[in-house]
Order: sequence, then structure tokens, then C-alpha cells
Amino acid sequence: MSVKKVLVTGATGRTGSLVVKKLRQYSDEFKVVGFARCETKIKELFGSKEGFIVGDITDKLTLKSTIEGCDALVILTSAIPKMKAPPKEGERPQFEFEPGGMPEQVDWIGQKNQIDAATEAGVKQIVLVGSMGGTNPNHPLNSIGDGKILIWKRKSEQYLIESGINYTIIRAGGLLDKPGGQRELLVGKDDQLLTEPPNSIPTSIPREDVAQLVVEALREPMAKNKAFDVISKPEDDPTGVVTTDFLTLFSQTTGGL
Ligand code: NAP
Repeated sequence: MSVKKVLVTGATGRTGSLVVKKLRQYSDEFKVVGFARCETKIKELFGSKEGFIVGDITDKLTLKSTIEGCDALVILTSAIPKMKAPPKEGERPQFEFEPGGMPEQVDWIGQKNQIDAATEAGVKQIVLVGSMGGTNPNHPLNSIGDGKILIWKRKSEQYLIESGINYTIIRAGGLLDKPGGQRELLVGKDDQLLTEPPNSIPTSIPREDVAQLVVEALREPMAKNKAFDVISKPEDDPTGVVTTDFLTLFSQTTGGL
């Protein structure tokens, strides 16, 4: 089996960094290159800059040179809302995006730049992590900082599908910083898991489980040309059977938005 060279963007993010660490554990299958904008953060998280390229996804030239020779791309960049100021007592916190960091620039233009660079370089597969909720234009996440984040994310997903590159779009429920590999994962479509979760379970999933799904999507051909929502049963759910068979999981998913 030949080793796949995989570029992971958003590599210093909370899920992206987990993907880099996991892919490094499969060194006989993958050679991983991390792409991140802050050298200090890379060193804090990984100890050294080795295996990383420092760059910004709004810079097409750096993306182009970085992606050259890669077999696959994992997109884990996202606009990040920041709290304006600690809320006064009884008030809800207000959020905003930094200049240059609006969802239109990061989740649309920035993701489009990555998909275009991948197309030009002949990359064979893209795994994109997005978010559930995109079928509802009035979803509360869209009003954060007037960013319409889910609308821009969805537009990028459509662009990826139309690019002709093999895609896997993983739309996660609320992300948890909890251990992975301890839950049953549930896949769905069209936000049905969000509006009608089975047995009213929380619509969330550990970041570690999402990172493992990304790895499995790169390993399992059945994951190609699929787009799906994913949540997890709670860890202590008596009906839960820990997901280990990813071929079966991916075979329950379909292509198209
Ligand atoms: P995260 O920690 O917010 O990471 C986002 C990454 O994007 C960061 O590494 C950030 O870089 C990078 N980034 C932003 N702008 C960039 C630019 N211009 N150039 C280069 N890199 C840039 O991500 P997460 O919370 O793990 O979420 C992963 C994905 O799941 C996102 O798409 C998110 O929307 C989605 N999701 C989140 C939730 C949730 O509950 N939070 C729920 C469902 C889905 P820095 O490290 O330098 O900041």
C-alpha cells in the first residue's frame, strides 16, 4: 500500500490538531502536513514546526505551493466568533468576528481557495468538517456577529460537491472535548437528527470521534462522495453500541448536500 500525503488545514484548531495527531499514528498509511497560521501555536501544541507549513487560507499562492504533491486534503478551518466583552449580570454575551475573519472570508472564500488549489494540484480526495443546522437559514448561529456562518459553510459544501473531487462532508453536531471511541455514532441528513433526535438525546459528539471519522473517511473508499450529519449517543446510553465498523456507518450515508 502506498503512503498517502494528506494536508490538514486548521491544524492548530481543536479538531484539526486531533486529526494531525491521529494521522501521525498511522504513519504506514499517511504522511501528514499541517497548515496553520500561527507558528507559536504550532510549537505550543506540537513541540516543533516539523511537518507544518505556516500560512493563511486567504493567501492563494501559499496554498498552491503547499498542496502540490498531496493526495488528499482535510479542511478544518472555520471562522471563530469572539466574545466582545464579559456580559453584564443578567445579559447574554455578544459575539463578533475579527476583521478579515468573517465567515464569508473564512468559510466561503477561504474554503473555496482550498478547493480550487486542490483541483489545480490534482488532489484526489477532500474531507471537509462542517456543522449541522445549515438547512435552517434562521438558525441562531447565523445571527452571531451577523456572520451567517452556516449559510457560507453550506455554500462551500455545494462548491466542493460540484468540484468533481471525491468528497466526504462531515456535518457535526455540537462538539464536545470528551474522550472518543466510547460512543455509538449516529448519521443522518437534512438536520433530521437535530430536529428529531432519537429518544431526545443531546445532539452532540466528541471532537475526538469527529477526528477519527476524518481518518476513517481517508481510509475507507465507501466514504467517498458522501455528505452527512453526525451525532453520538451519550456515553452511558444503555442502548449504545460503540461504533467500530466504519464501513457500515459510511454505507448508511448518501451523496449530495
Ligand atoms: P476551531 O478550534 O475553531 O478551529 C478553527 C481553525 O481554523 C483554527 O485552527 C484557526 O486557526 C483556523 N483558521 C481560521 N481562519 C483561518 C485563516 N484565515 N487561515 C488559516 N487558518 C484559519 O475548530 P473546532 O471547534 O474544532 O470546529 C471544527 C469544525 O466543526 C468547524 O468547521 C466548526 O464550525 C464545526 N463545528 C463546530 C461545532 C461546535 O460546537 N463548536 C459544532 C459543529 C460543527 P488558529 O488555530 O490560528 O485560530
